[in-house]
Amino acid sequence: MDITQWYGVALGALAALILIISNLYIRPPVFLLKHIFYPQIHPLIRGASKTTRFEAILIGSFLVGNVLCTTLGIKSSSDFVKRTALASVINIIPLFFGGRINTIGSFSGIKYEAYARIHRWIGRIAIAECIVHSTLAAASQKSFRSRSQISGLIATSIMATIYLSSTKFVRRHFYEAFAKLHLILAPLAIISIWLHIPSQEYLKPPKVYLLITFSLYGAVLASWFVHVTYRNFRRDTPLNVAEITSTNASTDVVTVQLKLSRPWRIRPGQFLYFRLLTARDFAFLQSHPFYICSWDSDTVDTVDTVSLLVEKRHGFTANLLPGGSQSEYSTMKAIVEGPFGGELRLESYGTVILFATGIGIAAQLPYIRHLLEGHQHREVTAQRIVLFWEIESEVHRYWVGDIMDDLLSMDVRFILRIKVFIKGNFIHSNRAGNVYYAPKANRNQPKRLKYHYYPFNAEVQVGKQIGKAKGKTIISLCTNSRTTDEIRAVVCQRVNEQVALEVLDFQPETRQSSGSYLSAVRDYLRSKRYAINNSRGNLRTV
Ligand SMILES: Cc1cc2nc3c(=O)[nH]c(=O)nc-3n(C[C@H](O)[C@H](O)[C@H](O)COP(=O)(O)OP(=O)(O)OC[C@H]3O[C@@H](n4cnc5c(N)ncnc54)[C@H](O)[C@@H]3O)c2cc1C
Repeated sequence: MDITQWYGVALGALAALILIISNLYIRPPVFLLKHIFYPQIHPLIRGASKTTRFEAILIGSFLVGNVLCTTLGIKSSSDFVKRTALASVINIIPLFFGGRINTIGSFSGIKYEAYARIHRWIGRIAIAECIVHSTLAAASQKSFRSRSQISGLIATSIMATIYLSSTKFVRRHFYEAFAKLHLILAPLAIISIWLHIPSQEYLKPPKVYLLITFSLYGAVLASWFVHVTYRNFRRDTPLNVAEITSTNASTDVVTVQLKLSRPWRIRPGQFLYFRLLTARDFAFLQSHPFYICSWDSDTVDTVDTVSLLVEKRHGFTANLLPGGSQSEYSTMKAIVEGPFGGELRLESYGTVILFATGIGIAAQLPYIRHLLEGHQHREVTAQRIVLFWEIESEVHRYWVGDIMDDLLSMDVRFILRIKVFIKGNFIHSNRAGNVYYAPKANRNQPKRLKYHYYPFNAEVQVGKQIGKAKGKTIISLCTNSRTTDEIRAVVCQRVNEQVALEVLDFQPETRQSSGSYLSAVRDYLRSKRYAINNSRGNLRTV
């Protein structure tokens, strides 16, 4: 085997390692959690991305592997040109598992964001190697006319376009354009590379790598087709029906109740992709991920009606109700993909502390329901469940008012505490800076639902909860970038044998936050200035 083949084997081994780590939950020693798995790399390096030191080590190993593969033992520049091409083609193979989580990706047990990040890093390196290869090869050519040369140039241009159209800025502001372009350009790139390679030996590298890529692409498309058909088309109930209603008092969020064509077994942590079959704004071409926030529990095993909580953003979600906020109800046919997403196993923890900001609440509520149901059947050991929820406006608390009431009534042993932190836009302006308890059903109950009319302070609240914890404690986050960083920093200081941290698949951002590198750096500098002011005894917020 030559070095590029060894590289292919090493890449496979790295993938297997990631799979094992994702599926076999072995708790690493506290030292590794504190210094490698939980802390992130410096914000000035990672920007808005959530890269832990462990992930940085994996990325670093991958980069080093590629440098070694393309440079070790080369004797001439043409060797280097050949190596970069081979390494690029090998790296392209796993990209065709798909960048978005799908049946195959979900089966692997890797989390949504980790899956997308692996795809992005492999893609970046494959494109860089392709560009280096083409530039050096083109520089050594005298004429530029053959089919191989022209298709090589086309392949490189396509790869460069894929890179430019996948930057964070484009993904954030033109997600649909990015997604559709990606879908079209990726197979075109492979076809151009195929035409570029003059060799007729199909079962030898590099053509065999392209054949593997084509086969993988075919398998992923076929599994997608089978999955969508199975999930959505049933003889008596073809397609799902989506009933969209505005939530009480708040126009920022709508509730989507999906009557599923084919019921399934619901677990907390599941999300689905759904697309509406309506021609308006070409919505039928778009499919978007949302957590299953609640469900009808008439049946024990499978569920045929689930509810999603959808926050309005600027695209697909902006006009789900045809009449805008004036209209209160709409019903449409929908196509569903999923469920995806792995469940956090919380049953063995004595204390479960859940944090959510904004729409992140949709991911946390199913866990509370699951724990309370398990507690009634004595299947979980939780003695204390605490939910922290920070919202921008007081009116947002009505998004899930009914679900919270249901949870409180399920909590017959009073193990649940809910703390809502309201940052501003108070309905009751005289409560600013104060704490208010929701009325209790009867005098014998403890106070379980508390409203804080001020922002959440991670250091104080997390420290306090870890101090009060009973038994093994898990802290789960579905919070915006800033809150996640703050809580993570406190957990890194306080982690011990009893404490675990989990960050869920989705990181809700406020409407104002841009998620860019600059805004991440600005947040970091602001938090630094705040810390310095605090240490000088000056508590003024900057
Ligand atoms: C695992 C997961 C679970 C989620 N659960 C919920 C939920 O329960 N409730 C909720 O309100 N939101 C949830 N979201 C976010 C939701 O998917 C996006 O807000 C929605 O897709 C935005 O659609 P839009 O066209 O209106 O977005 P735009 O206004 O065009 O963009 C807003 C943001 O959403 C991102 N985005 C747009 N389309 C997609 C897509 N197809 N996939 C991923 N990101 C996209 C963009 O990059 C941008 O950052 C979840 C996201 C993920 C990844």
